[in-house]
Amino acid sequence: MTDSYSMGTKKFDEEFCCPICLDVFNDPVVVRCCGNTYCEKCIQAVGAKCPYCDIKTEFTKNLIIKRIIDESEVKCKCGVFFKRNEALQHKIVCRLEPKKCRYCAFIGCAEDRLKHGMKDHQDVILRAFTQYID
Ligand SMILES: [Zn+2]
Ligand SMILES: [Zn+2]
Ligand SMILES: [Zn+2]
Ligand SMILES: [Zn+2]
Repeated sequence: MTDSYSMGTKKFDEEFCCPICLDVFNDPVVVRCCGNTYCEKCIQAVGAKCPYCDIKTEFTKNLIIKRIIDESEVKCKCGVFFKRNEALQHKIVCRLEPKKCRYCAFIGCAEDRLKHGMKDHQDVILRAFTQYID
């Protein structure tokens, strides 16, 4: 392990990775049989059967891991840092998040919408612009 000191999110994602969906835990629960942690919906999806022990098991919420994950910082592709549990709020303001064009059905990120607008709605944009000059 040469990069054990790395604070990158990749290490974090590996450490808090659900063995069923291979993604970061979503509502983590700990199973009684072996103490492993899974997402609640994942263990439910396999009929509450632990994939390691291959037996039906009981589980309780893993609040410690949930807190660590919620409080962990993630970096969006747009360069903004936020806590994982604030991802939904960030989505609304993220400039890379696809949104619908104001004038047609085109969907794209802020940059794509700008390019698209200059190409397809130049007249509309210019008209709106000249209204300020009048
Ligand atoms: Zn999972
Ligand atoms: Zn188990
Ligand atoms: Zn973003
Ligand atoms: Zn458009």
